[in-house]
Amino acid sequence: MEKRTIRNAIVGALLLFAAAGTAGSEDILVYITETGRRYHRGDCRYLELSRIPILLSTAVSVGYEPCGHCNPPPPPPGITPPSESQELYRLNVSGVEEPEKADLTRMTRAIVVRHVDGDTVYVSIPRPPASVRQYESVRFIGVDAPETVHPQKLVERFGEQSSEFTRRYLLNRPVFLAFDWQLRDRYDRLLAYIYLADGSCFNALLLREGYAHAYTHYPFEFLEQFRALEREAREQARGLWGSQEK
Ligand SMILES: [Zn+2]
Repeated sequence: MEKRTIRNAIVGALLLFAAAGTAGSEDILVYITETGRRYHRGDCRYLELSRIPILLSTAVSVGYEPCGHCNPPPPPPGITPPSESQELYRLNVSGVEEPEKADLTRMTRAIVVRHVDGDTVYVSIPRPPASVRQYESVRFIGVDAPETVHPQKLVERFGEQSSEFTRRYLLNRPVFLAFDWQLRDRYDRLLAYIYLADGSCFNALLLREGYAHAYTHYPFEFLEQFRALEREAREQARGLWGSQEK
């Protein structure tokens, strides 16, 4: 019996050792808050109000720095944080012709920390460029998702599905923000193109999958492309177009 206990202990120790070896420090989960610039260990007292799990490598690449109180793991080597003096990347003057050809490296990096509905989220930006705050509500340029949270309106057709699509794709995820000629709307929300880490434009994705209408009351760089994406989704009866009566 004793031999077996010892053997189990050795096997257990080896397994622990192997696990520690395979999980590089860049794969560790750390935590951020909605409004802070630091990343934390899970038991840090600064996580009382909000607690958003994120990979250490992502936290560092977005610009978060280690908390001085809880001593989380240091930034892994080879991960470059965004520079402090980044300018706004405005697609209307960038010469980019298609949404998917925009340059992620020039965009503002953020984490989506709160979800509102299909076309609006809150982001945390640890290193915001001038004229952008560290915590912002972001309205996606050129799209209009069916309403879900407007107190004066009934829930619009497909509003819940659209909202859920955005929540699943974006909440607690790293995103890249690009802008157009108008930085804010009349509610002081940032107007942005929201890009995923694989380079796809989420505004365009909403249209392509039929989770939003193209919003063309104001001009923006990809107005024609967005109209075409909406038309295509309608013709294919995707998303909200599939539930319309003929
Ligand atoms: Zn901490």
